[in-house]
Amino acid sequence: MTKNNRRVTDSRLLYLLPLSAILAGLVWMGMDAGDEDAPARPEGTVEDILSLKDRDDLNVIFILVDTLRADRLGAYGYERPTTPNLDKLAASGVRFSRHVSQSSWTKCSMASLWTGLYPARTRVLRHRHAVADEATMPAEIFRDQGFRTAGIWRNGWIAPNFGFGQGFELYHSPKPAAHLQAAQRRGTNPGMQMGATDSDVILSAEEFLLSHGHERFFLYLHLMDVHQYGFTEETALFGTEYSDFYDNSILWVDSLLGILFEALEKQGLLDKTLIVFASDHGEAFGEHNGEGHARNVYGEVTETPLILGLPFSLNPGLVVETRSENVDLFPTIFDLLGLPGLQDPDGQSLVPDMVRAVDSDYAPDEDGVAFAQLDQTWGKTDMEPRPMVAHNDGRWRLIYRSASPRLSELYDKSEDPREQINLASEQAEVLLEMNESAEQYLDSRPPPWGEDTPMLELDEVQLQQLRALGYGVQ
Ligand SMILES: [Zn+2]
Repeated sequence: MTKNNRRVTDSRLLYLLPLSAILAGLVWMGMDAGDEDAPARPEGTVEDILSLKDRDDLNVIFILVDTLRADRLGAYGYERPTTPNLDKLAASGVRFSRHVSQSSWTKCSMASLWTGLYPARTRVLRHRHAVADEATMPAEIFRDQGFRTAGIWRNGWIAPNFGFGQGFELYHSPKPAAHLQAAQRRGTNPGMQMGATDSDVILSAEEFLLSHGHERFFLYLHLMDVHQYGFTEETALFGTEYSDFYDNSILWVDSLLGILFEALEKQGLLDKTLIVFASDHGEAFGEHNGEGHARNVYGEVTETPLILGLPFSLNPGLVVETRSENVDLFPTIFDLLGLPGLQDPDGQSLVPDMVRAVDSDYAPDEDGVAFAQLDQTWGKTDMEPRPMVAHNDGRWRLIYRSASPRLSELYDKSEDPREQINLASEQAEVLLEMNESAEQYLDSRPPPWGEDTPMLELDEVQLQQLRALGYGVQ
């Protein structure tokens, strides 16, 4: 059975969640500038962005929605109202409009996001690879600076055995809430094989905030219901096709974020918390003859959102059009907070781009280099690595396969954002240059912690859990 079929038949209606909780989250009203009560966040300016580093009361919540492509968010121009709460966050914060993730497969992408290194340098490329203990991970930096650190996650690729728990005092995959466990026992909801849902992540987050909201904290939430196409009756607004289910699940997860934002507001945390919103990769719906993700590196699986919600509201919100990448995410956060950074990262702070974007004659940086990578044989123990690289440089995007460099594809993103018209034969010179850059990229120096990538032996239970996510691992 293909991954696509599996998803549609397993698509989950999470009927049993309390209706009041869902409705509470559908539209989060807290950030309305026109509220009669005192606003939860003051208004701020770009100078306030630059002086965040002087504050000693700032928390960070990093929300990652797995498998979320940028063009399905209202804030990124989607015509369906899938993300009312995130749109509000973007409208009063900072949105990066041309953002790239470093892979289309969770583990490879997340290793880059956390370390600030491209996949060619993390060398976390195959299903048994792990992040080395010697790597400096952001949660370690936060912990060493006195933050309470907690990660709540639901994707086995970022389990502690792959090195992703480093620095977290609590790194926890939630159990399903009691009413859902009962449903599982009764067998009334056959799509519940994953156990918990993202509502359990949000409940755990609320518990963490109640216990530790008075301390300085770094809280990481990794949500999975969009990956699993899970939604409720209330969010089943967009039809019955495969791609409609995806939108239903985005609306569902957005409604949960509404609940989280409301909890932050109630606890008086909105004016002392930096909210970072991102994804690890997108999802394909036939754009290049495939569905799902973790198979190639075209735009539909590597163009993801990045939104910052600041502890004050900007009016209007900023839109940064200079190309940005997930490797820039933690260099940016540490720059904003004035904390020590990562070891020799490839990513750079986006704070200078944010400052430039305030200017009325702002023109995005034309160079805009980015790389994404996937080893196309990552799940096959008996096959040689077969790297595929996407390389952005200004208007151009190269799709390079090390197994067949002569068949590279070249797209003009300014004219052809969906990468449909291959200009490789017409633009021989550009092609040659970018092929060379892709080869140099693959030949990058090792990470600061050394050449060797730890390799795990996965037991059958772990392999089954990963297969349950739709991955063909051996
Ligand atoms: Zn993922």
